[in-house]
Amino acid sequence: MSKFRKVYRFRMKPTKAQAHALNRMAGARRWVWNWGLARKREHYKEFGKTLAYHALAAELTVLKTKPETAWLKEADSQAMQQTLKDLDRSFVNFFDRRSRFPTFKNRKRDRARFRIPQRVKVVDGKVVIPKIGPVRIYQSQPVDEPTKSATFRRSADGKWYVSLTAEFEMPDLPLVPPCPERTVGIDLGLIDFATLSDGSEPIPAPKFFRKAQKKLRKAQRTVSRRKPGSKRKTKARIQVARIHRKTANQRNDFLHKLSTELIGKHDGLCIEDLSVKGLAKTKLAKSVNDAAWGEFRRQLEYKCLWNRKHLVVIDRWFPSSKMCNACSALNVRLTLSDREWDCDCGAHHKRDLLAACNIRDEGLRMLAAGQAESQNARRTSVRPHFEAVGVEPRIPRL
Ligand SMILES: [Zn+2]
Repeated sequence: MSKFRKVYRFRMKPTKAQAHALNRMAGARRWVWNWGLARKREHYKEFGKTLAYHALAAELTVLKTKPETAWLKEADSQAMQQTLKDLDRSFVNFFDRRSRFPTFKNRKRDRARFRIPQRVKVVDGKVVIPKIGPVRIYQSQPVDEPTKSATFRRSADGKWYVSLTAEFEMPDLPLVPPCPERTVGIDLGLIDFATLSDGSEPIPAPKFFRKAQKKLRKAQRTVSRRKPGSKRKTKARIQVARIHRKTANQRNDFLHKLSTELIGKHDGLCIEDLSVKGLAKTKLAKSVNDAAWGEFRRQLEYKCLWNRKHLVVIDRWFPSSKMCNACSALNVRLTLSDREWDCDCGAHHKRDLLAACNIRDEGLRMLAAGQAESQNARRTSVRPHFEAVGVEPRIPRL
């Protein structure tokens, strides 16, 4: 059996009073964080030692009995303790050189958020939060497993989201390499989002990819034109965030449909590691497409894992569009603008289709050599999350 972690993410629909309560909880978290950080710094200056979590948590309990800080009682105590644990964690990360020294949180700069380690449940389309009560959510799918921790975050455009973490186990099945007929190579690109090795019609990049780029560019220009610190600038920023969120929803919906369909049709899926491919593109084209490629790969990873299918990621240096698949000769003169080319051996190639076929063949080779299997073993740490906003992506049930 292997243990997996699944994260459900839902947009919340708080009433005005509830939104106020959520903001207050996030405010209390910020206060506790800043207080804890200040205490740790004082303690270190005085004694040259770190102030441990338990001592700090005890001090926090004392604060609740003092009149000027009695308001802390209104906040969920576990969420506040969790804040001190998060603070400890950020110190550990700093000492391990994984992050910078923890800083004080600022209401303007830092996104409102808090986390409750236990006790948060989803009942009848509502998330039940200690001290706040049941808050409606856009529940796009049932929550089947018991959930462990819940993180509440307010997005840049002011919407609240909850992420619930659940753990589940699945039996380990022997992974038998798939047959070539059930294996597909996928070439990802800017004009056609995906070209498949089976020779079917390429899947064009959705129109909203381009539209989103245009809209973003315009909205970002507006932000830069407005006076720093002004209300209008803040408004323009929220507009940018809103476009980002809407685009992400549309994009994920498109990707969920595509990845689910591909996994339904095939047992082996081969893709290229794309981290380098975007370098040649302009900055904005890159941002939308890179996000799509990254998200597509993430979806393929966890969907393959949960459906016991093979995913092979080919090295980024593999010459997928340059290599003739008839004679293995390399066309070193191929440029980015060449959509088709002829090999000296007489074979005619369509660039994207050739790449998809080469990716499939390389994937099959790696599967046969057992190289992809070690990759599969590493994939148990995939952390999928579900987008549950507006347009509902179809999510494969286990
Ligand atoms: Zn050739």
